[in-house]
Amino acid sequence: PTGFAGLHITVAGLGVSGVPAARALAGLGARVTVVNSSDGDRERAQAAELEKLGVTVRLGDGDTLPEGTELIVTTPGWKPTSPLFLAAEKAGIEVWGDVELAWRLRGRGGKKAAPWLAVTGTNGKTTTVQMLASILEAAGLRTAAVGNIGVPLVDVVLGEGQQEGTSYDVLAVELSSYQLHWAPSVRAHSAVVLNLAPDHLDWHGSMEAYAADKGRIYEGNTVACVYNVADPATEDLVRAADVEEGCRAIGFTLGTPGPSQLGVVEGILVDRAFVENRHQQAQELAEVADVRPAAPHNIANALAAAALARAFGVAPGAVRDGLRAFHPDAHRIQHIADVDGVTYIDDSKATNTHAAEASLAAYEHIVWIAGGLAKGATFDELVQKSADRLRGVVLIGADRALIREALARHAPDVPVVDLDRTDTGAMPQAVREATRLAAPGDTVLLAPACASMDMFVNYNKRGEAFAEAVRELTAGDR
Ligand code: ADP
Repeated sequence: PTGFAGLHITVAGLGVSGVPAARALAGLGARVTVVNSSDGDRERAQAAELEKLGVTVRLGDGDTLPEGTELIVTTPGWKPTSPLFLAAEKAGIEVWGDVELAWRLRGRGGKKAAPWLAVTGTNGKTTTVQMLASILEAAGLRTAAVGNIGVPLVDVVLGEGQQEGTSYDVLAVELSSYQLHWAPSVRAHSAVVLNLAPDHLDWHGSMEAYAADKGRIYEGNTVACVYNVADPATEDLVRAADVEEGCRAIGFTLGTPGPSQLGVVEGILVDRAFVENRHQQAQELAEVADVRPAAPHNIANALAAAALARAFGVAPGAVRDGLRAFHPDAHRIQHIADVDGVTYIDDSKATNTHAAEASLAAYEHIVWIAGGLAKGATFDELVQKSADRLRGVVLIGADRALIREALARHAPDVPVVDLDRTDTGAMPQAVREATRLAAPGDTVLLAPACASMDMFVNYNKRGEAFAEAVRELTAGDR
């Protein structure tokens, strides 16, 4: 469908992407029904708002397909195997994600639609789109970091062209694997899959399905498909993608770059993919020290952002200025304090083992605070790779036994304090225990490798509890 007026559309889910989708579709004259499995106070308030716009909202049942549905627009909460979609498939009804809807709506209002520079990956998405937006801004382009980062694309594309000043030259778009699953016709200018590690497998069904969904980001790219040289699975996805003629595969590496790659040479980020003239071997972009924090995984994020910006024609100086202007969000390897020679770092956002591995690789001598909800993960590889940097470990949270067992197998000499508690009060105790294990020069690192919901509302709250506990340490000193 392209015209929406009078079309019977079912939106699966309220929330950050469902509400804007329903609002937009109602605004276009569609007959919208929202279905939502949960039926709490928040949902009722959202429903009341939407009903004012003529939207029908059905709370408490997310499985039954409303009579007369001609199109489904879904949010990430619905698994591909949900009864709703099985019913849709039987009836030959198309399913779009919120990103697909946004893509179909762009360019309405007559102005030229802004091209998308798209970012996905298991870890580093938010950081990379923010770095990218910062670089594009430094180049004087009108841009924004949007999508899965918390800015609904539907709102962004409908804002485009409607009034002076809200149009963009280019968008830095974060896409999740869920969103990509339901976004068959999205065609980015250029895109990157930063890395691929098992995550969200309960939703996708298998690692293959998860990878395939991530790989959709490359479909139909016009200028560049950017991949991680250190993660060959990302290059495989580029090879498997059907792209526009002339679209190039561009690699990024923390080592010396080959042709058509960006990389690092003696502390300088260099570009060997988009050199300005044939005689030039490589273009210097920025110094490693321009990237904050200058941890290896984050330099990789910076190279990926730089690759997308360069693919869009951004000059080297703007890459440097944009990286310098970038400040990471809280709870992502955030420096909290130095107390008696010990550094305290909050990486509460390390909610899976792949992310924790990156932050553990960034420090020499670590007292590691870990644990929470494992989401089916195993910890052997993580512990094996990090064992020689661990000065001690403090375990909290529901699934801490899994980490304790991996430590016993691969790091039997590292002292472990198992707090055996899952209440929020565990955090101050964990910080005190970690401090006891730390020597001057060490880093106390909160990188739980697990989700936070067993103890905290979310990873933000977990990080705040950590920072608060560190502040209490210093208060106690005085
Ligand atoms: P996402 O949006 O994909 O969740 P973030 O940028 O918010 O990613 O970073 C999440 C966590 O992942 C960070 O706290 C950090 O520990 C880790 N991380 C960031 N970038 C990378 C990367 N390139 N590789 C591995 N881990 C990373």
